[in-house]
Amino acid sequence: MEIMTSISSSALKVEEWDKAFPSLVAAFSTKNGGCSSGDFLSLNTGLHVKDREEDVVYNRSCLGNQIHAPLSKWVLADQVHGSKIQHVSAGDCGRGTLKYENAIPDTDGLWTTDLNVFLSLCYADCVPLLFVEPTSRFVGAAHAGWKGTVQNIAGKMILEAQNAGVDIDQLQAVIGPSIGPCCYIVDEYVINQVNNVLANEKQKPYQEISDGQFRLDLKQLNKLLLLQAGLKGQQILSSILCTSCEDQLFFSHRRDRGKTGRMMAVIGWKG
Ligand SMILES: [Zn+2]
Repeated sequence: MEIMTSISSSALKVEEWDKAFPSLVAAFSTKNGGCSSGDFLSLNTGLHVKDREEDVVYNRSCLGNQIHAPLSKWVLADQVHGSKIQHVSAGDCGRGTLKYENAIPDTDGLWTTDLNVFLSLCYADCVPLLFVEPTSRFVGAAHAGWKGTVQNIAGKMILEAQNAGVDIDQLQAVIGPSIGPCCYIVDEYVINQVNNVLANEKQKPYQEISDGQFRLDLKQLNKLLLLQAGLKGQQILSSILCTSCEDQLFFSHRRDRGKTGRMMAVIGWKG
């Protein structure tokens, strides 16, 4: 069963988290309800894809209003398909929101325990990972395309939380809408790295469909990595939505052959 429900035409929320944590904002944007045109029709939230800057800022601002997380309190990263995770605080609010240049550099994961800091990362097929632990007020967000995934950004976020004193038994993770195995074919080069990161895992999140061609389930791979890092199955929720199949809801880098917009995942506590 799908874990996401609509906030508006522009945003989805995690139903279970919405009930459990009334002061938490945890939202995934769709491609609808914005002002961008052409390849970016219409709610493009990525500043780095050659869309009009003022349109992107307007889109972000509208999204922020709808999810009750004002854009001035967002923190964005300059995402590079790596696995570096950065701790941010209230003083970082606004970074990367209006200009790409002052985003947190070379970073694909963010976490904070401050109120009114909304971690915001861009996606178009890659896996958005969100984390929450209510007692410590820990929230985290990670961008896990295949490269970040095989560098185990999921497991590194658990380690970051642990090092920050967070009770890992109380941590919850959401694996958001991203490209599904239905639409994601990769070659042996990728699969070798998947096997490396899975260490002794017997279960494989891929299937060979022809010589050297594999269907890869990136969401399942991230789930296995979260389990490997110490989370239990009941601490992990996963969306079944495929960004490529759901062409009325999402941008998809693969489906749209690279010329497309970006969705945003946003998480933070309202103060
Ligand atoms: Zn699909």
